[in-house]
Amino acid sequence: MKALVYHGPGVKAWEDVPAPKILSDTDAIVRVDAVTICGSDLHILKGDVPAVTDGRILGHEAVGTVENVGAGVKTVKIGDRVLVSCITSCGTCRFCRERRYGQCLGGGGWILGHKIDGTQAEYVRVPFADTSTYPVPAGVADEQILMLADILPTGYEVGVLNGTVQPGDVVVVVGAGPVGLAAIMGARLFSPSHIVAIDLADSRLEAAKQFGADVVVNNSREDAEAVVAGLTGGLGADVTIEAVGLPATFEQAVRLARPGGHIANIGVHGQPVTLHLEELWIRDVTITTGLVDTYTTPTLLRLVMSHQLDAARFVTHHFALDEFEKAYDVFARAGDTGALKVVLTRT
Ligand code: NAD
Ligand code: ZN
Ligand code: ZN
Repeated sequence: MKALVYHGPGVKAWEDVPAPKILSDTDAIVRVDAVTICGSDLHILKGDVPAVTDGRILGHEAVGTVENVGAGVKTVKIGDRVLVSCITSCGTCRFCRERRYGQCLGGGGWILGHKIDGTQAEYVRVPFADTSTYPVPAGVADEQILMLADILPTGYEVGVLNGTVQPGDVVVVVGAGPVGLAAIMGARLFSPSHIVAIDLADSRLEAAKQFGADVVVNNSREDAEAVVAGLTGGLGADVTIEAVGLPATFEQAVRLARPGGHIANIGVHGQPVTLHLEELWIRDVTITTGLVDTYTTPTLLRLVMSHQLDAARFVTHHFALDEFEKAYDVFARAGDTGALKVVLTRT
């Protein structure tokens, strides 16, 4: 089969590789029908994720059709249409029993396209198939379901729920990439009084308005603190969500929160960040961190089915499965191309 293979920093190729086989009786082999590219894949390609080694097939998001299952797979059957999620769950370890699947101790967590071969391929082996895939309901487009593999649960769990967004809140989202936009979309479900989106790119701020932000701030030329102070009587936001992953944006998210407020970090940080405890100790703030667990996937699926979340809105570009080179290029140049999520489908 063909797959998108990582060959060290900056090098990838759509090439022939052996088709995956069942290695454990809880595995499924899934034929990939629709797949997307994540910002994390770009991090990997820059060499920022050393756990990913030469020869690894990338990708941790897919919708597909079950081609084969191991003898121990109980609920997933050949021919089933499934969502393959970014998080794999053994279902039985201490953390899986607490719905903290991202921290799985039994061989799951973020493994696809990271520690084992991933979804940017014609076929993928999915371990713990019963607890790591979700049935795709009839009558909904693959590309909508695909948005549930990573960005929607990430924005919702690590941003909105960790930040405990409440009705009437002023919510600030720093970074309006796909994950920040997913947080904006998820926050809307709780009827905040204002959602302020902050980014450097006007195209992303325009997207933020489409996703439900009513105030946008361009960090390169506007004063976010003055804007948020104006909306909150000088107090600061009830909830701030960091969806960039830089020291400056984390510190900004902290500064913009009111006393007693919540700061939910989603961004993946590659450098140390200063925590100004000398200012914060007296402000009663709560700071949360998190890797997505995907425990809200069934909830989000219902919200997509009932049209309360428009997952299709993320998809800006379409490609065939063998057009990864082009798709990566468009996705990596999001500032110029306006890309949010690109979808590649089997033709
Ligand atoms: P992205 O790169 O597409 O979006 C980041 C946005 O931040 C861009 O629109 C960019 O213009 C903006 N930005 C950059 N510098 C800025 C600044 N100084 N001020 C304001 N905006 C700025 O990334 P994404 O795919 O949306 O992901 C966002 C973050 O979430 C990344 O760090 C990603 O690795 C992380 N992530 C975390 C998890 C998790 O489980 N915690 C899961 C998935 C992704
Ligand atoms: Zn991802
Ligand atoms: Zn587990």
